Amino acid sequence: MFTSRKTDSPKQLIEYVWLGGSAWDLRGKTRVLSKPVEKLEDISEWNFDGSSTELATTENSEIVLKPVRMINDPFRGQPHKIVLCDTYFPDGRPTSSNFRELASRIYKDSVVDQADIWFGVEQEYILCKEETSGVISKKSHYVPAAWTEFPKKPQGDYYCGVGSGKALYRNVPEEHLQACLKAGLDIAGINAEVFPGQWEYQLGICKGLDTADQLWLSRYLLYRVCESHGLIPVFDPKPVEGDWNGSGCHVNISTKATRDANSDRLGPIKKYMELMSASHTKDIECYGENNALRLTGKHETSSLEKFSWGVGSRGASVRIPFSTEKNLTSYFEDRRPAANMDPYLVCAKIADTLYLSSKNSEVFSKTIEEYKKARAALVQH
Ligand code: ADP
Ligand code: MN
Ligand code: MN
Ligand code: MN
Repeated sequence: MFTSRKTDSPKQLIEYVWLGGSAWDLRGKTRVLSKPVEKLEDISEWNFDGSSTELATTENSEIVLKPVRMINDPFRGQPHKIVLCDTYFPDGRPTSSNFRELASRIYKDSVVDQADIWFGVEQEYILCKEETSGVISKKSHYVPAAWTEFPKKPQGDYYCGVGSGKALYRNVPEEHLQACLKAGLDIAGINAEVFPGQWEYQLGICKGLDTADQLWLSRYLLYRVCESHGLIPVFDPKPVEGDWNGSGCHVNISTKATRDANSDRLGPIKKYMELMSASHTKDIECYGENNALRLTGKHETSSLEKFSWGVGSRGASVRIPFSTEKNLTSYFEDRRPAANMDPYLVCAKIADTLYLSSKNSEVFSKTIEEYKKARAALVQH
């Protein structure tokens, strides 16, 4: 009989998770450790074949995975872990989809560090099914799952809906909530949204760059939960044209200045509004692809071209809650980011706009442009 020398040693499973050639290309693979580890620092780097995920050419295919954030694996249970990694070429250069590298440079700036920016994110998504055309194609085509199973009723009953035919696929957000809690993520709530089969979860309050790591991990868990229901979470900002809501990812922001302001929280916030107004076009570049289709000024959105803000306004780019005007809370809400935004870009650009006089705007534009070029080239390769 075969016996392993290692049968007595405890085993720990580490799921390495990373973003492939496009920021929305989540990938993962498992490593079995015979000596369990507890700390992120003890998780070793790994590598993968970048040519299979549109990150590298076949001739130069090795990509290095560097662990950046560890959570409990809610699917496998204790002592197993999930580890988010960012990606580098062997010579140390970040890959084209590694926006985390840029974000961490911004957050290392002492001015940004001292501003102590906190975020609360509202992630919306629509549950879809993959259309099976029988043709092998790189492009997937998704249909809202609700329309494959339920009568096509207009919007109105679904937002925070209760009951069959209204709260569609509730098991999914519910299981996702439990998974996030078991994993140790700072999930703060869930609600059904306006489009049939659309849901939202709130993440945070989280600090600075950790918001972005947590958001990617929470998205990963959502994909995994959906796998077992035969569903796909779609983050497209406007999957269905016409009188149907799209999906956003509102980002609620507070800083040491807004939290410390005793009587006049609007003071620092008004200064931020001037800075955001001046940087609007550059900021929007970082707020997700195809966002123009969503930011029409209808369906509780603002105009793409023009920055606006207002107390209590859900049609403005930025809403200042009444509670903040009354000094009961200290945050404001940037409603512009699309559901498919990369939080590394958004959290970093907000810091750049509010605290670094937007001096990195061109770096952001160039990084996004290079990423799009690299993606197009590698898809063709
Ligand atoms: P709505 O749907 O009305 O826009 P939500 O309740 O969905 O509001 O989201 C409000 C978000 O604001 C939550 O994610 C919460 O964590 C966040 N938030 C509350 N206080 C702060 C704060 N001081 N800094 C940053 N975010 C905050
Ligand atoms: Mn909300
Ligand atoms: Mn919402
Ligand atoms: Mn909101």
